[in-house]
Amino acid sequence: MILDKFSLKGKVAIVTGSNTGLGQGICKAYVEAGAKVVGVSRRPSDETAKLCGKDFYNVIADLSTVDVIPNVIDETLKKFGKIDILVNNAGIIKRQDSIEFSEEEWDSVLNVNLKTVFFLTQAVAKQFIKQNSGGKIINIASMLSYQGGIRVPSYTASKSAIKGVTMTLSNEWAKYGINVNGIAPGYMATNNTQNLRQDEERSADILARIPAGRWGTPEDLQGAAVFLASEASDYVNGFTLAVDGGWLGR
Ligand code: NAP
Repeated sequence: MILDKFSLKGKVAIVTGSNTGLGQGICKAYVEAGAKVVGVSRRPSDETAKLCGKDFYNVIADLSTVDVIPNVIDETLKKFGKIDILVNNAGIIKRQDSIEFSEEEWDSVLNVNLKTVFFLTQAVAKQFIKQNSGGKIINIASMLSYQGGIRVPSYTASKSAIKGVTMTLSNEWAKYGINVNGIAPGYMATNNTQNLRQDEERSADILARIPAGRWGTPEDLQGAAVFLASEASDYVNGFTLAVDGGWLGR
């Protein structure tokens, strides 16, 4: 049955940035779809744990450095015995005029959004190959994987790069049964966009340009996240899927 192909029953997923926003929504969707989920966060994911119940396990790690990666893998294997799905969701944004942009604002964003994503993905792919199981990797990209944005040069650099790297890894790893894809959320109401939504002029400009006429929510991302983690997407490789209320088509 076709709906069975969307099931994540028996699967083990790692989701970074699990304490809030889009990551929390993905953890909840995966548990509902039958998976066991390791949420990685730098602060405790207590609210997510409450929403998800016994199939959720929290690993605390600050993803601004790659040093934490071996422990994330070890803890997942110790708790659930294998890995089938990785969602690279944790990400940060720094808003500042490009003319004033500092090295710290550049490096901090590139470290979390790109460097750690690449090396965590590499570590998980090695585990997929060792398991001989294939696997699913989902990178959370952005509208700024396609567009320039304003006052966010390091964020745009990281999210444009992640879309490209998604294709590179897909080209190399499809032969192992590993699907590497991305999701590009549109403008979603989370902490990431709090400052933007508080800027009345920018907020009104953005809203006026979204064909769906509203900001997105974590629930809006859940369908795409389950699809790309499931058997239903086995022949989808290297693609970054927009979930944007029509923003990119405008
Ligand atoms: P969010 O609420 O700010 O969530 C970001 C998550 O990443 C939080 O859990 C955050 O933890 C975590 N994180 C940040 N730095 C970390 C670190 N050093 N170590 C571990 N975890 C860290 O925003 P969101 O909208 O849900 O963002 C999720 C992803 O979607 C991000 O990659 C973002 O760029 C992307 N995205 C969002 C939008 C949007 O409109 N909201 C649009 C396109 C793409 P803390 O809570 O501790 O900071």
